Amino acid sequence: MEESDLIIIHSCAVTASAEKKTRNLISKAKKANPDAEIALLGCYVDVSKDIDNYNDLSQILPNDQKMDLISILEGQFQKHRELKFHPAYSRNMRTRSFLKIQDGCDHFCTYCTVAHARGRSRSDSIDAVLTNIEKIIDGGYKEIIFTGVNIGTFGIKNGESFTELISAVDKKFAESGIRIRMGSIEPELLTDEIIEITAKSNVIMPHFHLPLQSGSDSVLERMKRKYNTALYSEKCRIIKTKMPHAAIAADLIVGFPGETNDEFQETYDFLKSIPISFIHAFTYSDRPLAKASSFPNKVSPQTAKERMRRINNLAKTKELAFHKENLGTTRSILTESRSKDGLIFGFSDNYIKCGVDAKKAKGNTIICVKMVEIASDFVSGDIIV
Ligand code: SF4
Repeated sequence: MEESDLIIIHSCAVTASAEKKTRNLISKAKKANPDAEIALLGCYVDVSKDIDNYNDLSQILPNDQKMDLISILEGQFQKHRELKFHPAYSRNMRTRSFLKIQDGCDHFCTYCTVAHARGRSRSDSIDAVLTNIEKIIDGGYKEIIFTGVNIGTFGIKNGESFTELISAVDKKFAESGIRIRMGSIEPELLTDEIIEITAKSNVIMPHFHLPLQSGSDSVLERMKRKYNTALYSEKCRIIKTKMPHAAIAADLIVGFPGETNDEFQETYDFLKSIPISFIHAFTYSDRPLAKASSFPNKVSPQTAKERMRRINNLAKTKELAFHKENLGTTRSILTESRSKDGLIFGFSDNYIKCGVDAKKAKGNTIICVKMVEIASDFVSGDIIV
């Protein structure tokens, strides 16, 4: 066997002899290349009784996961090399553009494979982001959403920070008439300074997307998240004190391994108690390379489904309450597309979908709207001249 950095063994287990050949191949590969990454995939993984003897291999993927191999292996090799940051922004929507400012992550939350697959955190420089924003504005866009894997770690490799970026953007584009949304930011990385700048800014929208994942401290610990519920609720409190109309969205994972009824109830009660407007809930699923995949006491699909049902009901209640709170207020809306029944839609600065009389407004325009009535999934409003 030739000297290699990476060996992929695509196994067969149709007969006892095929299984034996796979075992021989694994031991030959190990002997000839003690430092190589070895990935074993295919039927042997699914059917062999002695698969646990091979925990020392870099990857063991059954048939239903083998298509993930490329992204996983990219992650394996990224451990050994520094990656470059490649900026990008979207041009496929008329009004909004997604600007990538950061990639990768240095955290290893136990349910997540992103840090494995995308490598360590790296980002653009503040100057480069400002230049990209100017280019996007020149393309006629009115709203830019900062994206990345963990945008709160922006700048850590260049001696800059996300707080400095927000401050620079706020200063440079104060009179530009454009809107910037921050995208999802880890709660512990949302500094008080960012909240303060946002509260006073015309440019940074009062819309915070703070992943929560669980409202139970014991589950957060098992997830290896870097905050607890006390920190999360304190961030919400500061945001709402400075900006009572701000939107706060929370991501949630339902049915994390070992999530007991009590832990789920803690999550439910916590969500009820904090001033969030939107909940994006996902059912937990095992991912290759994620530590939690090997955690015991998996939650049954029926239990997870019932918990999701309760969370989705709570999400509707929260969103409705937020819409009600905003009735009678005047917000800025960026108009987007026309609908058949004479309304033009857009999102408010605090991320409420709003519909106004299409005869009175053009698309891709920022207008002032008084929120007057809750419709099905939006709020109807009157344009204030
Ligand atoms: S969940 Fe987010 S912070 Fe945690 S490892 Fe994945 S990308 Fe990083």
